[in-house]
Amino acid sequence: MLTSESVKRIALAAGADLCGIGSMDRFEGAPHDMDPRHIFPDARSIIGLGFRIPRGVQRGIEEGTQFYQYPSMAYGGINEVFAPSVLYEVGRFIEDSGWEAAVYRNTGARGRVSDMDGSEGNTLSPEEQIDIGRTANKTAHHRSVQYTRPVAPGRAAPDLQFHFRIAAVVCGLGEIGWSKMMLTPQFGPMQRFAYIFTDAPLEPDPLYDGPPLCKRCMACARECPGSCISQTESVTVTVAGKKLEWGKNDAWKCYAFYTHGGRYQNPFVPKAVFDENKDGALDVLEGKAEANEHEILKVYSALEDYFPSWLGYNMAKCGGCIRACVNMLEKKGGCLEGVFREPLRTGKRWVLDR
Ligand code: SF4
Ligand code: SF4
Repeated sequence: MLTSESVKRIALAAGADLCGIGSMDRFEGAPHDMDPRHIFPDARSIIGLGFRIPRGVQRGIEEGTQFYQYPSMAYGGINEVFAPSVLYEVGRFIEDSGWEAAVYRNTGARGRVSDMDGSEGNTLSPEEQIDIGRTANKTAHHRSVQYTRPVAPGRAAPDLQFHFRIAAVVCGLGEIGWSKMMLTPQFGPMQRFAYIFTDAPLEPDPLYDGPPLCKRCMACARECPGSCISQTESVTVTVAGKKLEWGKNDAWKCYAFYTHGGRYQNPFVPKAVFDENKDGALDVLEGKAEANEHEILKVYSALEDYFPSWLGYNMAKCGGCIRACVNMLEKKGGCLEGVFREPLRTGKRWVLDR
């Protein structure tokens, strides 16, 4: 008989580092176009699989000497290769028992609700969509924004993207930190997730109720090169009776900074390009212009020649909030205390002098 225990055993044996199970009714109250119950209306359970990000994958960025491994291994490798193979394995196990397994790998939103700011509707004009398509061809930058519409009344518009971190909370895997990163007792902020929806009536895990994982130390906000995380304003959401709160995050600005880093974090772009600031395109990276999807297009167009991408992922130059969080949790105590023999950071963070 298929049980939660047997699903977890198979998931861990297949290579997942974490596995938690939630019931679909915990999504009650989710925004209509982000409610995963539209994906598989008969699903009773959601299985959350966590895949650890090795701390050393960010070593090169921490030292400022190697930027390739983080996006290729920790984004592309996990999302495109490793997690799908585990999803496939666990899905087969579930379906061998006569229940359906709707697998859901980590993917960017292409639907009506923006995964950047949760706003309804796409605001890019058709011309801009064509522009971003051209950019996509050159840089494999995936943001296919289309005017999607529901296929029938009452359905969510395709392609539905639910909130991955809230889903991890639903599966009892941890809590959302002030940085908006998912924190788990095992790996702090260092993991990615994938999910399976199934009609199998599995016993759910309780929501995480252990000691607070986020220390509210604000290191993530302080070390963000774009000041994208507010230290004072927050967002609150209630999931299955549990209040979640995280710092207000300027998602579009983060999008610019984590891929492009900015003047003081990007060793790939000549200083002259930042100085020239053609058409004001880089103002968003200097905090002089509002970050929104229109401005981001300008940033991409100004800098795309300097940014190779791999496996369809943009080159991540930041991850500052993750490393700040790991550094703090290791030093100040928390879920990562004592996990590694040596701390992530022993000296000062590097910042380009220009
Ligand atoms: S990824 Fe970088 S830019 Fe985005 S919130 Fe984290 S530190 Fe800030
Ligand atoms: S850096 Fe501090 S405030 Fe930010 S998520 Fe981590 S523990 Fe929470």
